Amino acid sequence: MPRLSEVIAALDTLWPPEKAEGWDAVGTVCGDPDQEVSRVLFAVDPVQDIVDEAVKLDADLLVTHHPLYLRGTTTVAASTFKGRVVHTLIKHDIALHVAHTNADTADPGVSDALAGALDLRVVRPLVPDPSDPDGRRGLGRVCELDHPLTVREFAARAAERLPATAQGIRVAGDPEALVRTVAVSGGSGDSLFDDVRAAGVDAFLTADLRHHPASEFMADRAHSAHTAHSADGAPTPLALLDAAHWATEWPWCELAAAQLDEISDRKGWGLRVHVSKTVTDPWTAHAASGHPSPSSDPLGAPN
Ligand SMILES: [Zn+2]
Repeated sequence: MPRLSEVIAALDTLWPPEKAEGWDAVGTVCGDPDQEVSRVLFAVDPVQDIVDEAVKLDADLLVTHHPLYLRGTTTVAASTFKGRVVHTLIKHDIALHVAHTNADTADPGVSDALAGALDLRVVRPLVPDPSDPDGRRGLGRVCELDHPLTVREFAARAAERLPATAQGIRVAGDPEALVRTVAVSGGSGDSLFDDVRAAGVDAFLTADLRHHPASEFMADRAHSAHTAHSADGAPTPLALLDAAHWATEWPWCELAAAQLDEISDRKGWGLRVHVSKTVTDPWTAHAASGHPSPSSDPLGAPN
């Protein structure tokens, strides 16, 4: 049975901590390097529901994408939700390890998993890591579809293939425009609009898109050189697809679990590796507006 330090060393080869952004907080949050590890749980968020699941599972190690503490703290008192998480973990000898922006830019990384879930062929990173001579690491991915789909069909595919959330998929742009190339980025993606514009893709799928950046991006697209084409051949500006943050990152948990499984097999560790299916997206319900008019929202039900 491997020790925690050996498992962490293996995870660090997949997601080198030095590749994390300067503001990020990755690595081991709690855990004894000498403790033995036999069962591992992967999840997006280090919240109490997930920690309770790890306890029930008798896991020795919880690996999450999001950090528990991104900034410094002066207390882990169990009267705070994060302190309660730390207490529960330590009481049950469960280590917590975080792979965040170092997993985003890894090869394969968070956006490769997202592209895989959507059945897209990855062409290159959206924002390549200049230190990677192979040009495979970096933020986001530029992808191709095997067969062109309309924006409406591609949104339906995303809604079907990503884990179900209350939000579903929001779309900006002409639903009948054809999509051949897509940029994807797991998690909040509206800082990548310049790169998406430069990539000349037909659609961008990400999460957490806000009104002003999205609205200005769509307005700019209408005046820029690159345009997608609708089914009748008319040029249309590129489309935005906004999914739930959690749903865009969850496919990474399955990828990461498979990567650790493979390492465990190779080293004869016999680890049992699990992926949490608990939805930890904070949005729990969605009330659709009344039937929108075709001109204001052509994705709405026919009226
Ligand atoms: Zn995230």
